[in-house]
Amino acid sequence: MIYYAFSDYLKQRYGEKVYKLPIGLPLTCPNRDGSCGKFGCTFCGSIGAGYENLPPELSITEQIRMNKAHIVPKYKAKKFIPYFQNFSNTYMPPKQLEEYVLEACASDDVVAVYIATRPDCINDVYLEILARIAKEKNIDICVELGLQTINYKTLEKINRGHGLAEYIDAVLRIKRYGLLCCTHVILDLPWDDDKDLIETARVISALGVDQVKLHALYIVKNTKMAQQYENKEFEIISCEHYKQRVIDFLENLSPNIVLQRLIGRAPAENTLFSNWQTGWWKIRDEIVKEMEEKNLYQGRLCNYLNGSAVQKFLK
Ligand code: SF4
Repeated sequence: MIYYAFSDYLKQRYGEKVYKLPIGLPLTCPNRDGSCGKFGCTFCGSIGAGYENLPPELSITEQIRMNKAHIVPKYKAKKFIPYFQNFSNTYMPPKQLEEYVLEACASDDVVAVYIATRPDCINDVYLEILARIAKEKNIDICVELGLQTINYKTLEKINRGHGLAEYIDAVLRIKRYGLLCCTHVILDLPWDDDKDLIETARVISALGVDQVKLHALYIVKNTKMAQQYENKEFEIISCEHYKQRVIDFLENLSPNIVLQRLIGRAPAENTLFSNWQTGWWKIRDEIVKEMEEKNLYQGRLCNYLNGSAVQKFLK
């Protein structure tokens, strides 16, 4: 196995292909509404990550119905994962979150619910509700945390409004409640070097995170980062360099962690730069090919946990 792909995980866990259904909620995030920041992360456009979403004014039931109408005939899909994707999907009163999640998992063909949020929007009260729903409905619930990098200096520069500590706290809490945890990482943020990404893989592995989603940076028009890009305050690394970072990241990552993506599907519209004008699948295939040819694989360098210096006394 070159890397532990999400599609393989889904087949193992649910016995067949499972399809994520993106759901948009009428939300904002504390890094936009003034609670911890007003202007958002410097790379984030006004619609967040929701370019794949249906209008948030539609009910969850309606969004699920419309997404299924498209997917079911095309792929003969039978099992689904509603995915609260855009903005911070736990940034609301706990009762509201409970209602949304219950609506999302109302039908028997839902095997899991995935919820994207910020590390500072997770708390024991919310996790208790999610753990209860997971148990009662016999589904998995995965909390997807935006981290992007473990480099707290870069986090400050991109105006994340949280540091590394909030992320670690959130992961430990999510795991304590028996829920799944996914982490989003951007592998080529300006100001991060190659070692930052290796350390990101190591910290994620040490925390026992279940899944990871990797992205390449894309520059959305009319953002602070677009301004910096146009002013040549930073340069984006080459596609070759990105592929190398993915390989280094995978080699250092625990083999038990599922990779939802090696590179995101960046929108071409409204961007100044996205995925080197190359299809994400092409970049993914090239990464896999290079790893196969060089006999590299996920976890090959994951030998630093569980007291690596004393391992020699235990043989
Ligand atoms: S936390 Fe997410 S939604 Fe909020 S500004 Fe940052 S990227 Fe955008």
